[in-house]
Amino acid sequence: MPSPTALESDYAAAAELLANADALLIGAGAGMGVDSGLPAFRGNHGFWTAYPAYQGQSFADIACPETFSVDPQLAWGFYGHRLNLYRQAAPHAGFAILRRWAEAMPHGYFVMTSNVDGHFHRARFPPERIYECHGSLHHLQCHEGCPDTWPADAVQVDIDPHTFRARSALPRCSCGGLARPNLLMFCDGGWLDTRYRAQQRRYRDWLETVQDRRLVAIELGAGTAIATVRHTCEYAAWRLIRLNPQDTEPPAGGLLLPVGALAGLTRLDAMLNQHPVFQSGNR
Ligand SMILES: [Zn+2]
Repeated sequence: MPSPTALESDYAAAAELLANADALLIGAGAGMGVDSGLPAFRGNHGFWTAYPAYQGQSFADIACPETFSVDPQLAWGFYGHRLNLYRQAAPHAGFAILRRWAEAMPHGYFVMTSNVDGHFHRARFPPERIYECHGSLHHLQCHEGCPDTWPADAVQVDIDPHTFRARSALPRCSCGGLARPNLLMFCDGGWLDTRYRAQQRRYRDWLETVQDRRLVAIELGAGTAIATVRHTCEYAAWRLIRLNPQDTEPPAGGLLLPVGALAGLTRLDAMLNQHPVFQSGNR
């Protein structure tokens, strides 16, 4: 951990970067959801803490298309529970802080998230500025191979609270086949990435427009196991601000605030509210 003085000076440097940024890339991983009360599934222990009924099975064992084939009640028990959880949890106050900063950027912003919880949509970020690199649990596709995806709004799965298995009828495609979430699972050759590709295209088009600008990326709770969000932020940013309590070393050319997303965003927001450049919009 950095000394309190070093941490203060890193906060000040991060606020200075944000105040002088032309454009903002928001990169979010599982740690972003923790402050909204969502589990992050860190390792088997983290997974079993969230889902004690799955003791002995790993996240990857359950979160794969094969489970939809061999034990659909288990697969939908897991994803149906998460869908209910994501609907019930409210995005924490850090989302609104980010949206306020983002809307003040002279050259706009983009959100890249590996979370499938739909919370940036819920926090009223415009859909055309969100890139969900692992898909979304709020959209479904056919498990039998039909080419369409559709919103999961009408889906209600009742879960047995002891076994975490689905005990109601399972979601179906219009062809009658089993439906599955339109997100990237482990060992997943069947993910329909139509939404993903459209989002990625919009992200890349925006990135082109800010090539010569001071693009600051703020990365929140992004993990190292599947480091897509980290790599994207590192690649795109003029300067990177990484918020992650699991990290000890700052990224190359960037800053590390080893704190949770909500705590870090709240502190930075208080500093920016005092900042003459950010306050006046005089950039
Ligand atoms: Zn179908």
